[in-house]
Amino acid sequence: MVRPISAIINTNALKNNLKIIKNIAFKSKIWSVLKSDAYGHGIKNIYPFINDNSDGFAVLTLDEAILLRNSGCNKPILLLEGFFNKKELYLIYKYYLTITLHSKWQLNALIKYKSRYPINIYIKINSGMNRLGFPTNKIFKIINIIKNNLNVFKISLMTHFAETTINSNFIKKQINNIKKYINNYYYFSCSFANSGAILWHKYAHYDWVRTGIILYGASPTGIWKDIDKKKIKPVMTLKSKIISIQKIYPGQIVGYNCRYSSNKKRKIGIVACGYADGYPKSIKNKTFVLVHGVKARILGDISMDMITIDLLNIPKAKIGSSVELWGDNIKIDDVAKSANTIGYELMCSLSKRVPRILK
Ligand SMILES: *Cc1c(COP(=O)(O)O)cnc(C)c1O
Repeated sequence: MVRPISAIINTNALKNNLKIIKNIAFKSKIWSVLKSDAYGHGIKNIYPFINDNSDGFAVLTLDEAILLRNSGCNKPILLLEGFFNKKELYLIYKYYLTITLHSKWQLNALIKYKSRYPINIYIKINSGMNRLGFPTNKIFKIINIIKNNLNVFKISLMTHFAETTINSNFIKKQINNIKKYINNYYYFSCSFANSGAILWHKYAHYDWVRTGIILYGASPTGIWKDIDKKKIKPVMTLKSKIISIQKIYPGQIVGYNCRYSSNKKRKIGIVACGYADGYPKSIKNKTFVLVHGVKARILGDISMDMITIDLLNIPKAKIGSSVELWGDNIKIDDVAKSANTIGYELMCSLSKRVPRILK
């Protein structure tokens, strides 16, 4: 028997989410962000269903970009951090990729490189997040250095926002920092907005938005109800089955470190999903899964390959019963919150050993 865990990828939800994003950012073109193997969903699973409604794809590594080209993608592909070594330039030109320039060493490598045709360049502006990018007061100088270089076709401007919550004022500050130094910046194509800015800060959309997490149906804030109103749907359902049932009596414990001790007679289920699958070990008490349409509490510690759940109120539950760890009913944002993290991390940490199945 195959181990029963799998991640179901709901391609209708994916297409639905992209349509919603397109409607919200109707004036902008869309970079669909496929880094980290499409946030754990698998680039190959996601790409065919979003190709038509995306204007380009943003990835982190050259391998991801080449995989897309080899899958037949002929739309723009953006390397979000450009190159990590100037040796990559050969393949960047060969596969006609768009690159981000965020550091002086990249700039120097680019202008010295001998290519036979030019590619598109995104200049990354550090507008206040203080992670990647050139200071705002240097952007004009950099544009002047590269604008007549034979390796460079179109120059665009890019920045990343540090805070995109519904009521954040920081986006405005970051945009103002850019405006202060680049008076005619609207002369260039601009890509500033990530998911949070797409949903809640229309003035920040500009020419190209970059959509990641909401494409996959989790919240940029980590709070599900923030995106529920927008009709965004979870794309991934992590599900497994009960592989054993135990009866425990008052005073008996469950699992490692005796973390849970029962106060009464209780039926418990053992589910084939553990931290080696990417289920977070750090969840707090009162985290739930779904069995026969009923929320069942997780009891005790998460093991490498198993978790234990309370079946006291679910008499129907038996060996083979299906269990939803996260998905349409148990929101990944809620599991993440219980583990002190965000849906992004859970998606990206889903282990290779969990088969992804298209629905
Ligand atoms: C990951 C990433 C995004 C997408 O962010 P979401 O919050 O998932 O929409 C956009 N821009 C850059 C530079 C990124 O690295």
